[in-house]
Amino acid sequence: MPNELLRFVDLAKATPDKRAADERRTDFDEIFRDFARERAAEQAARCSQCGVPFCQIHCPLHNNIPDWLKLTAEGRLEEAYEVAASTNTFPEVCGRICPQDRLCEGNCVIERGFASVTIGAVERYVTEQAFANGWVAPPTPRRENGRSVGIVGGGPAGLAAAEWLRRRGYAVDVYDRHDRIGGLLIYGIPGFKLEKHIVQRRIDLLARAGIRFHVKTALGRYLTLAEARQRHDAVLLACGVYQARDIQAPGVGLSNIVPALDYLIASNRKGLGDAVPAFDDGRLDARGRHVVVIGGGDTAMDCVRTAVRQGAASVTCLYRRDRANMPGSAREVGYAEEEGVSFRFLANPVAFIGDREVEGVRVATMRLGAPDATGRQTVVASGEAPATLKADLVIKALGFDPEDVRAMAATPELEVTRWGTVRANHKTLMTSVPGVFAAGDIVRGASLVVWAIRDGRDAAKAIDGYLDARDAGAEALYAAE
Ligand code: FAD
Ligand code: SF4
Ligand code: SF4
Repeated sequence: MPNELLRFVDLAKATPDKRAADERRTDFDEIFRDFARERAAEQAARCSQCGVPFCQIHCPLHNNIPDWLKLTAEGRLEEAYEVAASTNTFPEVCGRICPQDRLCEGNCVIERGFASVTIGAVERYVTEQAFANGWVAPPTPRRENGRSVGIVGGGPAGLAAAEWLRRRGYAVDVYDRHDRIGGLLIYGIPGFKLEKHIVQRRIDLLARAGIRFHVKTALGRYLTLAEARQRHDAVLLACGVYQARDIQAPGVGLSNIVPALDYLIASNRKGLGDAVPAFDDGRLDARGRHVVVIGGGDTAMDCVRTAVRQGAASVTCLYRRDRANMPGSAREVGYAEEEGVSFRFLANPVAFIGDREVEGVRVATMRLGAPDATGRQTVVASGEAPATLKADLVIKALGFDPEDVRAMAATPELEVTRWGTVRANHKTLMTSVPGVFAAGDIVRGASLVVWAIRDGRDAAKAIDGYLDARDAGAEALYAAE
């Protein structure tokens, strides 16, 4: 009986069908197909409906997972969608790209010996059914409330805030420096993890609800924070972190050594049908090249898998620690290996060789040393002579820091932390500038989409509370929190 719960005892965990690696290597389509209806219901029915659901506690949005699983098992999909969408602005995105193994599924407490419930794929399935059946409506408010909010940055944090505010009657303007809305959902994350029409479909709904999008409108170039503050009752900074970390080694200035995001943006733009000179002239195209990607996070995994799809001659990932210490999702590493990427762990680039263009990377072997103050093992050179690896395209995926937000905002009184992220009061979520709030990576540092959504929703609620206080004449009290 598919709608009987507690099926974990007799039914194994299953994910939707994964396309074969040989097929995946040739296109940028998502690697998983959607669940079939029966299969989604069966998998949802594996849940044991815990009284204290650890899955929910470890989901940054505290999604009501057991409830939507039960409704899915019972075939009540419209209600399942309503429950899922009540806490999540983009359940179709999180179902695809959350690192579930570290969040909800990784904390599912089905008894030892049984694999976790397949939560992300069910969240995706329920939302796809909702779109297919016309159950997803634009967040149009019942009435306007006369207040206006300006949001700088159209990534998941800004859009989650925009949706929450618009639903409650706010006039919302989103300013973004790119020519498309979506932030890293559009220009960072490749299509094989998240197809672009999935993101665009949601953005279209937000536009239909009356949210105004102003593209090619960079804060610092076409807009100052003071102007935004004058135009709106409150402003939200949700501009992400984009300053690529660099590597210090001889030869790093050679051509064909490129930052990860330049490479991924070019690839995503090509996929969207744009003319991209740096791709079209071969500089950011891996076709026929020996590609070396430096880094062990999710961005590095996206680069190696993009290079495979572009037809690279070989793709090698260098990571200075071991596999167990990789910061990226183990799942993504597995997919990359299936697709033909070779990994060199405990490998550190010490020099880049070539006359004008890079021709090779000198790679030193490392070993893990004693733990540092944070408890993480340090990395030390093994003492072996470095070896040379052939490379004619090197991609640096070493992480991101914030740009100079204070300069961008032309507001010296905007306080930042020692890491350059915007300092927001942890209770009010307001920055040091009255009426200006901040959310997402620009506060948290490079993180996850699900945290950006959470932060965007929290900031929207905080703005609502602040404007209520202002209208009640208690703004000063609010600011003093
Ligand atoms: P962003 O998504 O960066 O959006 C910020 C927006 O602000 C952008 O649209 C930008 O154009 C705009 N902006 C910046 N400066 C200005 C300015 N001066 N004026 C106007 N607009 C401006 N997370 C996951 O959960 N799963 C994944 O699989 C995953 N993969 C990733 C892969 C890559 C390659 C990268 C780089 C990140 C990945 N992440 C992933 C992390 C995730 O994308 C981010 O944590 C998330 O997008 C942060 O959301 P945000 O809204 O704070 O910022
Ligand atoms: Fe899991 Fe992410 Fe969905 Fe939360 S939002 S239930 S962490 S997939
Ligand atoms: Fe169901 Fe697992 Fe969550 Fe328990 S922890 S409610 S079994 S999904």
